[in-house]
Amino acid sequence: MQPRDLSDHIAYEAGRGIEEVARELKRDPSEFVKLASNENPHGPSPAAAVALRDAAGTVNSYPKAAHADLTSAVADRWDVADEQVWLANGGDGAIDYLHRATLEPGDDVLVPEPGFAYYGMSARFHHGDVRTYALERANDFAQDAATVLERYDDERIVWLTSPHNPTGSTIALEEIERLADETADETLLVVDEAYGEFADVNSAVSLIEGRDGFDARDDVAVLRTFSKAYGLAGVRLGYAIVPDEWADAYARVNTPFAASELACRAGLAAVGDREHVDRTVETAIDAREYLREHVDAHVWPSEGNFVLVDVGDASAVAEELQERGVIVRDCSSFGLPGCVRITCGTEAETERAVETLNAALADLDVDPDEASADSEGERDAAPESSANAEVPDT
Ligand SMILES: *Cc1c(COP(=O)(O)O)cnc(C)c1O
Repeated sequence: MQPRDLSDHIAYEAGRGIEEVARELKRDPSEFVKLASNENPHGPSPAAAVALRDAAGTVNSYPKAAHADLTSAVADRWDVADEQVWLANGGDGAIDYLHRATLEPGDDVLVPEPGFAYYGMSARFHHGDVRTYALERANDFAQDAATVLERYDDERIVWLTSPHNPTGSTIALEEIERLADETADETLLVVDEAYGEFADVNSAVSLIEGRDGFDARDDVAVLRTFSKAYGLAGVRLGYAIVPDEWADAYARVNTPFAASELACRAGLAAVGDREHVDRTVETAIDAREYLREHVDAHVWPSEGNFVLVDVGDASAVAEELQERGVIVRDCSSFGLPGCVRITCGTEAETERAVETLNAALADLDVDPDEASADSEGERDAAPESSANAEVPDT
C-alpha cells in the first residue's frame, strides 16, 4: 500500500540549524551564528521562560484554562471578541485552520511568488489547488491590488504577506481594501502579519473591525505568530483574527489542544512583556539599517527582522558564509537563486555577518552588477512559469 499521490507536495525547507551545520562540518557549534530563520536574537521573553519552567509541573493536564486566558489576552490586545481569536500550533497551524474552514476539494488559493512555502503546502493537504501571482523583482517586489488582480480568478483564499517573507515589502491597507472590494464575495483575503511588529504600518485588523476610517468587513482575516518578535518559535504558537461571522467555525476545525499548555502559558507571559518586544524591534530596525548601509551588494529595504540581499549566486555565497561560521538562508527554494536572506541579529552578530559577507563576496569575486544582469533573465521567465498552475510555488 502507498500514501495518496503526493507528487504535487513539496517538502518544506527550513533554515539550517547550528547543531546540524556544526555536526556536518565537524566543527564546534560555538563557532557559528545562525541568521537563517528570522528567530529572535534576544531569545524568548524572560517572563515567558519563567512561565515555561513554572508550567512544567502541570503538563499532565490538557490545556483548558490557559487556552481561554490567552485567547482573552490576545482579544484584549486587539480589542476584538474572544471568538475572533483562533489560537493554533504556530502561525502554520492557523494557516491550516483557515484552509480547513474554507476549501472544498478542487478550490483554488492564490499565493505570492516568491513567497512562504507553507500556504501552498497546506492548501494541497486540504485538497486545494495552488495558483500564484508574481511579485516582480524589477519592481522591487512591490505589492498592490493591481498585481494580485491581474492573476486573480475567483480563488477561495488570496494570501498576502505583509511584511513579505523573504523580500520585506509591505502592502498598504488601502490596497487590501481595494482588493477585497474587487474580489468575489466568496474570496477571503488573509493578511499574514508574522512580521507585523517590526513594521511601521497599521494591522489589517482595522479592515476587519472597521477602524481608522475603513468600513468593517467579513472577507479579511489576519495571521499573527509568537515565533518572531516574541521569540517563541520553539513552543509553536500563533493565531488568526477572523471576522465575527467566522467565529463559530473554530470549534469545528481546530485540532483539540493543538496550542499546548506550555505554549499558552508562555504566550500569556509574553503578551505582558512589552519591554522584550520593544527591545527586539529596536534591534531589528538598527540591524536592517546597518545591513543596508554596509553590505557591498544590493540590499532591499525591509520592514521585517531580515533583509534580502542580491549576491548573484545564493548557493555559493551561502555555502561560503557557512564555512566562515555565518548561517544565512539561501533563497533558491523561494524562487530567488540570486539572493540570500539574512536575519537581523544582535549588534555583534549583524556586524560579523556584514564583515563576513563582504569578505566572501570579495574572495568569491562575485560581481553583483553582473549577477543582477544574469538573474534578469530568470526574472523575465518568472511570470511565464507562474502562468502554469502545475508549477510549484517555491
Ligand atoms: C514565520 C512565518 C510564519 C509562521 O511561523 P510559525 O512559526 O508557524 O508561527 C507565517 N508566515 C510567514 C511569512 C512566516 O515567515
